[in-house]
Amino acid sequence: MERAVLHCDLNNFYASVECRDFPHLRGKAVAVCGRQEDRHGIVLAKNELAKQYGVSTGEPVFKAMQKCPQLVVTPPHYDRYLYFSNLAKEIYLSFTDRIEPFGIDECWLDVTGSRALFGTPYEIAEAIRKQFCSRLGLTVSVGVSFNKIFAKLASDLKKPNATTVITKADFKETLWKLPVEYMLGVGRATLKKLHEAGIFTIGELAQSNENYLYAMFGKHGSELWNNANGRNDAPVAHIQDREPPKSIGNSMTCPRDLEREEQAERVLLYLSEKVAGRMYRGGVVACGVHLMIKDRLFGTKQYQQTLEMPTRRVKDIYAAACRMLRQHYKWKEPIRALGVSGFMLAPQAQREQLSFFTDTQACIREDRLEENIAGLKEKYGKHIVTYGTLLGGDFDLYQKDTGNRIPYRPFQK
Ligand SMILES: [Mg+2]
Repeated sequence: MERAVLHCDLNNFYASVECRDFPHLRGKAVAVCGRQEDRHGIVLAKNELAKQYGVSTGEPVFKAMQKCPQLVVTPPHYDRYLYFSNLAKEIYLSFTDRIEPFGIDECWLDVTGSRALFGTPYEIAEAIRKQFCSRLGLTVSVGVSFNKIFAKLASDLKKPNATTVITKADFKETLWKLPVEYMLGVGRATLKKLHEAGIFTIGELAQSNENYLYAMFGKHGSELWNNANGRNDAPVAHIQDREPPKSIGNSMTCPRDLEREEQAERVLLYLSEKVAGRMYRGGVVACGVHLMIKDRLFGTKQYQQTLEMPTRRVKDIYAAACRMLRQHYKWKEPIRALGVSGFMLAPQAQREQLSFFTDTQACIREDRLEENIAGLKEKYGKHIVTYGTLLGGDFDLYQKDTGNRIPYRPFQK
């Protein structure tokens, strides 16, 4: 039996949730924007009306306001986005248990085995779309196809609130004329090389030579060629395979009490690095950071902050933890223990999403650097690479039990 895969993509997700929650925003051009003080106040998401004025994700707020002076700017509410993301999953679950999230607002569904109960894949897609409108007040674009790659491409073709079917009989006609970068797996670096080789469309990729692509990209090249030809049999994960944890955290009781901010910051960096590494391995990003401070008298204080953008970078987690420490801790007592965790976790989507942002190149470089560091640690152990500031001195967090120094003994929450 031919596989039936759906890809559901919530339309303008952040902006749609804001308009749903705050009726005064409806009918207006709306942009969800980061806090000015965190970054440079950039557009994180926008609704259809704002899009019509040319407002684009990643541009500075002032630029967006120039294009659309009546633009209404609103801050993000990640707790609400996660809430609706989970409600969406409940709707999907009523049709199948083969659900694989991709980012906070996208999911693949394998409905091959659901046909006897719920009708054709198209009918299932339409039923899902209707339920989104009536139960959530949100819209979704659904792509229906025989593999994950084409289902995702299909969901991008008609927006908002539409179903697009791509079959084995018509995929060449419909998809092959599209730019090759529309296909999953074609990132910035790959695209550049493909262009150099004269490959600009998905069809050109499909009709090129597999061996040639293999020579250029290795295994990934073969995969791309197969994907463009509709030969992708990657399964849709089972819902239970992918349930992300609620939070990921590490804490540590220091052998000596911390008396100064710099000392505490070094421990926070150490903890942030551990947390980020675990998030990297788990394939998740956090929408918020939580800080636990225990003072010498065992008084415990907890703080949390939502982030401007979901992240799993050491830098962002560390910055949020330090910010909370500075804002809240008065240093009446030295600190005995610290804990850092990321909460409101969502599955990490493709890295390309970052490329929308203005400081694109820097963002991607930093992300890659952090991923490489995490990869090295996984392969060669956590001591292989670290921040210079964590080495030496009174707080040598990476010193092994060789000398007479007392090593820190982190424990997991
Ligand atoms: Mg979306």
